Amino acid sequence: MDAEQLRECGHRMVDFVADYYKSIEAFPVLSQVQPGYLKEVLPDSAPRQPDTLDSLFDDIQQKIIPGVTHWQSPNYFAYYPSNSSTAGFLGEMLSAAFNIVGFSWITSPAATELEVIVLDWFAKMLQLPSQFLSTALGGGVIQGTASEAVLVALLAARDRALKKHGKHSLEKLVVYASDQTHSALQKACQIAGIFSENVRVVIADCNKNYAVAPEAVSEALSIDLSSGLIPFFICATVGTTSSSAVDPLPELGQIAKSNDMWFHIDAAYAGSACICPEYRHHLNGVEEADSFNMNAHKWFLTNFDCSLLWVKDRSFLIQSLSTNPEFLKNKASQANSVVDFKDWQIPLGRRFRSLKLWMVLRLYGVDNLQSYIRKHIHLAEHFEQLLLSDSRFEVVTPRTFSLVCFRLVPPTSDHENGRKLNYDMMDGVNSSGKIFLSHTVLSGKFVLRFAVGAPLTEERHVDAAWKLLQDEATKVLGKMV
Ligand code: PLP
Repeated sequence: MDAEQLRECGHRMVDFVADYYKSIEAFPVLSQVQPGYLKEVLPDSAPRQPDTLDSLFDDIQQKIIPGVTHWQSPNYFAYYPSNSSTAGFLGEMLSAAFNIVGFSWITSPAATELEVIVLDWFAKMLQLPSQFLSTALGGGVIQGTASEAVLVALLAARDRALKKHGKHSLEKLVVYASDQTHSALQKACQIAGIFSENVRVVIADCNKNYAVAPEAVSEALSIDLSSGLIPFFICATVGTTSSSAVDPLPELGQIAKSNDMWFHIDAAYAGSACICPEYRHHLNGVEEADSFNMNAHKWFLTNFDCSLLWVKDRSFLIQSLSTNPEFLKNKASQANSVVDFKDWQIPLGRRFRSLKLWMVLRLYGVDNLQSYIRKHIHLAEHFEQLLLSDSRFEVVTPRTFSLVCFRLVPPTSDHENGRKLNYDMMDGVNSSGKIFLSHTVLSGKFVLRFAVGAPLTEERHVDAAWKLLQDEATKVLGKMV
């Protein structure tokens, strides 16, 4: 590493990135390339001799950027947001500079200790029960993704249940979740060896914005108990992926408690909103949770990846995931006087991710972060009002946070008709490159999702998106007659 070379190249890269952000609206939000496009324009083996940074920048402009979908564009409304910010970006830079592999405390004490402190700060911001703090039996840890978070929670829960019921009872363990739960849970069950026939998918209540009905969970659970099965894990969601529904945490928590089950809460997207006092009630019931997860990399200005997981009793996680090979032994770990986050996650190696979160918290402050969330929710409200002003459209489910689920009302109630109409409208606006939005299916209806949450989105972007959708609606409705 030549420091002067880094300074020169680094400045050029920062200029490049700043220019990218400045001109981001000029790019089609959704990449318009065809599969395999890159193979056509890049050589099929690595260069034997070093290339220049200039020619690399040329290739980035001409070959890479066309294949990029611009998640940071203010016209990005698809899936859920994946925020970048100056603070998050600088944190990533510094983390890349240190490039530590902080699996144990000794490998970089600051990395472990900052993570513990920042996760405690965050838990206090969310008003999580004090048992989730590192000063009690619990604590927080940064995982890469919500998928890893639910997997490690499930492994801890599985091993706790096997310890109680005997290691041959794996085939009897049953997991409960709604049909709106993210597919990450299903994948976690596959990895954890939960028998596929024991993953109980309870149909969510379409009259409650697709939150699960606790009675339906209780009913499924009673049937399982009477068949000799062992209910051991409930996963609730605050902000489901399709419609941002909030499952009834207090009731589900009670079911889990009465049956000695592990209660996991996935608040990957909507957890961020709960730093605002007016949205915190969505977490009521978290008192009964064994684990709670939210993605700071979604809607919290912290560059990917940064998924925050808290557990009420860290010993279950550690019992499931710890190893102690000779080559990692050291005085601090042996004395049990430090946290070794390798025992709270799947991989050994881990990045210094707390830096970027710490920088986001410090450089924005809680007040500004709350305003940031509120602004997006207001923009979503604004979009909802626009939809209500045009009778050709309908808001399909009540909006809770910054996601609006809507569709163009088909002339007939036939689902296929509605699907085609709305698919065509979505395809039309997405292939224009002007905005990007995604879809889901709710009760058989093809529904469009307008997820506000990109850091650069302003009211004018929402208004322009609305105009585009209205024009496209006129086009697709015209083709139907
Ligand atoms: N849970 C919910 C509610 C989500 O919306 C998502 C992704 O959108 C996930 C889990 C999976 O997130 P990750 O990519 O962090 O695994």
